[in-house]
Amino acid sequence: MGIREEELLQTYFGYETFRPGQAEAIDAIIKGQNILAVMPTGGGKSLCYQIPGLALEGTAIIVSPLISLMKDQVDALQSLGIVATYINSSLSTMEQQDRLRDIGKGRYTFVYVAPERFESTMFMRALKGMNISLIAFDEAHCISQWGHDFRPSYRSIIPYLRQLNDLPTVMALTATATEEVIEDIQQQLHIHHVVNTGFKRENLSFHVIKGKNKSTYIQSFLKERKHESGIIYTATRKQADALHDQLEKRGYQVGKYHAGLSEQERKATQAAFIHDEKSLMIATNAFGMGIDKSNVRFVIHYAMPMNIESYYQEAGRAGRDGEPSDCILLFSPQDIQLQKFLIEQSMMDDVTKQGEYRKLQAMINYCHTHSCLTTFILNYFEDINQQEICGRCSNCMERQEKVDITEEAQKILSCIKRMGERFGVGMTAKVLKGSKDKKIREMQLTSLSTYGILSAYTEKELTEYIHFLIAEQIIATEEGKYPILKLNHQSVEVLKGKKTVWMYTAPIPNTEPTDFQEDLFAELRELRKQMADEKDVPPYILFSDATLKELSRYFPV
Ligand code: ADP
Ligand code: MG
Ligand code: ZN
Repeated sequence: MGIREEELLQTYFGYETFRPGQAEAIDAIIKGQNILAVMPTGGGKSLCYQIPGLALEGTAIIVSPLISLMKDQVDALQSLGIVATYINSSLSTMEQQDRLRDIGKGRYTFVYVAPERFESTMFMRALKGMNISLIAFDEAHCISQWGHDFRPSYRSIIPYLRQLNDLPTVMALTATATEEVIEDIQQQLHIHHVVNTGFKRENLSFHVIKGKNKSTYIQSFLKERKHESGIIYTATRKQADALHDQLEKRGYQVGKYHAGLSEQERKATQAAFIHDEKSLMIATNAFGMGIDKSNVRFVIHYAMPMNIESYYQEAGRAGRDGEPSDCILLFSPQDIQLQKFLIEQSMMDDVTKQGEYRKLQAMINYCHTHSCLTTFILNYFEDINQQEICGRCSNCMERQEKVDITEEAQKILSCIKRMGERFGVGMTAKVLKGSKDKKIREMQLTSLSTYGILSAYTEKELTEYIHFLIAEQIIATEEGKYPILKLNHQSVEVLKGKKTVWMYTAPIPNTEPTDFQEDLFAELRELRKQMADEKDVPPYILFSDATLKELSRYFPV
């Protein structure tokens, strides 16, 4: 690392030393090597392109999907005496033209743009005449179809880049990338060098809370954590509205943020939250990408998100300052139905859907595992199988009551085997229970020797057992909306009595109906209407009347 870069770090940003990965990434870019930096949220990705941008001649182009944050980032640079600007649809045509002229003249060291900008001939013309120091793709996972936030406009930049005479050095930055996504980004952007500092966030404690009334839980949690800054993510706008009103009535300083609010309203609450005038933010996933608020002490998820990528990114907004912080997921089985429904009804092709189901299954497993939650997440991203425990997540904390459930597991596994490995969780639980369900009788499953073999348990308890065994990879699943249960190597070990199965916490979630459930149906209907340019609804979601009807079975109105 050259002296010059450290000097820039100190004089412009006032920091003494680089954080892990920063020096390597900066060095590579200055040498003209394309690079992908994978660093946790709060790891300091911005500096990785800001320092080279300062060190190199010419203008650095920063592509960011976050129009709402460009101004903040530019303001921050300007306050450090750095010449920066942005150009996006929030500016009038006149303003855009003026800025573009100055940009073309090379007046700026940093220019932030939205991906769509590359489709403009005027912009491309300006770029062609410029000396570009580097082009940085912030939130680079948006470029990949395998990512959880794919934006086609991001990917379509690539052919435009080829129109430039000299291909600029490319930097890609992201906090959440699986192997698949990393490879895809590398391929798309021709990157050979990857700096990956891993995902570990030592200061975060993860918790999964099941079988509790969600509102009651939140109320008592907040009582304990008065005056701390926190975000509560809800699955829908209606939930956000309702929870917001509830908490406001109780005297909390609480803001709300979702795509149903005007831009003005959103800006105002965001500012109030960032400046600690409001300590709580109730929001849909429209809120937070790239938000740099360092002292968020907790992030609560009111419902299970669609995949671990989204979850980790949202939860990771806690504790960017490195202080201990909590990430809490309030799980109820209805969350699964909602997410499956959203995937099923999406406009994705079948292959993509299968991929989404697979990712959803991992999220479900996270909610059911009794292993260390921190390790579970790291294993998911890094695709390894570590057995370490963190000692601070809810599963590590509740490790007192260890129960041997090998016998139950064997009965469940042999039932799956007897059923021909052709059924999902629901049917299997029914057979184990000895249910009188019509379907079970019609399919002559009552004659199986395992029919009613665990009749002492409720169907709900049995479902919980099966989910647990899936999460522990003692049962395999075949991808799909209703995953088919299969045996695997571990199942055989258990059946042969070579492996003991331990469960740590009480197996039964005592499910209460989700609050605000009755509003959900109405809201989904509304969502369909507003599909087009939503920020908090995956853009591919489209509901037909038939599906709305189907949904009403899960969420009776
Ligand atoms: P990311 O984009 O990776 O989530 P940011 O670039 O927004 O993270 O940086 C998070 C915070 O860390 C910012 O407040 C930033 O100023 C600070 N930061 C970045 N690099 C350093 C460093 N080397 N030393 C101290 N603080 C840093
Ligand atoms: Mg960032
Ligand atoms: Zn743990």
